[in-house]
Amino acid sequence: MRILVVNCGSSSLKYQLLDMDGERIMASGLMERIGEPIGRVSHRTQTASGPIHQVTFERTMTNHRAAFREAIRQLTASATGAIAGPEEIDAVGHRVVHGGEAFREPTLVDPAVLDAIEKTIPLAPLHNPANLMVINIARELFPYIPQVVVFDTAFHHTIPPHARHYALPWSYYEELGVRRYGFHGISHRYVAREAARRLDLPLKSVNLITAHLGNGASICAIRDGASVDTSMGMTPLQGLIMGTRAGDLDPGVMMYIARRLNMSVDQLEEVLQNESGLKGICGMNDMRDIQKAAESGNERARLALDMFAHRCRHYIGAYAFELGRVDALIFTAGIGENDAHIRAACCGGLAPLGLELDPFKNQAPEDHHGEISAAGSRIKAYVIPTNEELEIARQTVKVVGSLG
Ligand code: ADP
Repeated sequence: MRILVVNCGSSSLKYQLLDMDGERIMASGLMERIGEPIGRVSHRTQTASGPIHQVTFERTMTNHRAAFREAIRQLTASATGAIAGPEEIDAVGHRVVHGGEAFREPTLVDPAVLDAIEKTIPLAPLHNPANLMVINIARELFPYIPQVVVFDTAFHHTIPPHARHYALPWSYYEELGVRRYGFHGISHRYVAREAARRLDLPLKSVNLITAHLGNGASICAIRDGASVDTSMGMTPLQGLIMGTRAGDLDPGVMMYIARRLNMSVDQLEEVLQNESGLKGICGMNDMRDIQKAAESGNERARLALDMFAHRCRHYIGAYAFELGRVDALIFTAGIGENDAHIRAACCGGLAPLGLELDPFKNQAPEDHHGEISAAGSRIKAYVIPTNEELEIARQTVKVVGSLG
């Protein structure tokens, strides 16, 4: 079965074509700066042994429709495309950021589903409109191909009420949907499944703490294979310190800043979304730059690293306590997969709690099948590269397969 996975942001569109017999990537691409005067297209067609065609060029794409058409053009180009025509695609899997209360699992798209996604727009005004637009375009261009929506929030629907709700007037939940939803669910689920495989245990019986540390970052507590708590909340602003997002904050601080600086709600959101986090602390949001600056004596960069790790440890500790038994701690995403210093800082001093890293393995996890914990560590630790596209494709296959 060939699955086209589409992951689209407000000005970008990422895609991957997978042959699910063998879970092989046939082609992938990224359209950037959609709607700007000059956009950028990157596309690669590949076989099991590597890329056979790779292009990057500039092209104006006035909207997501133009970007999607360009992606299909690249996928089906006569000399270099992965397939002869769109009829060779069996299903399209779309990543949708927010599924609200309605969506607890991947779902086949029909008009009622589109209506329900439309209703979640107030909860994710930056992401869901673009997701919805591309689903509509794909349906229009390929009405005969099944479209499946896979939600970043769905994995967290198992979070119990005591961890799900905010202590606010109850009507805000009932009337406005204010509650914790959690994000990065596609990634947390993918690495949880991979971790269970490495532990040689059924997913249904593993307790894990998964740390997705990228530009956006969240930690998830997983009991018996299901999410029971996560650091992100109603929006992806809560929890860990991120590239440009503050994470947990005394709500009183927001009122204070808004009053003192005479800020509108939109201005405040802009600060919390794009000017805070690591960037707010030290002026940089790329962890590689921050590590370099800290090494050369930049104190604010050092503080940013310490604050980042401190917040991670706070959640790891809380979730270890909440779970009682932890089989493994998993690091994933850009920072989690690549930054040995941050991993060490997150786990330092936890030997009495049963978690001890092996410093050599931590420097080169790929040489040890991702395992970075010391031989005697009761809690294992792994670095597992995330693969959200593959997870979306797997879930799409499940939905399409069940159609009979
Ligand atoms: P997102 O998908 O949320 O945009 P990624 O998962 O790609 O984010 O992670 C981006 C982050 O990973 C950036 O902060 C980047 O600096 C960090 N990163 C990538 N490679 C490395 C590395 N080798 N060492 C440290 N940090 C890294």
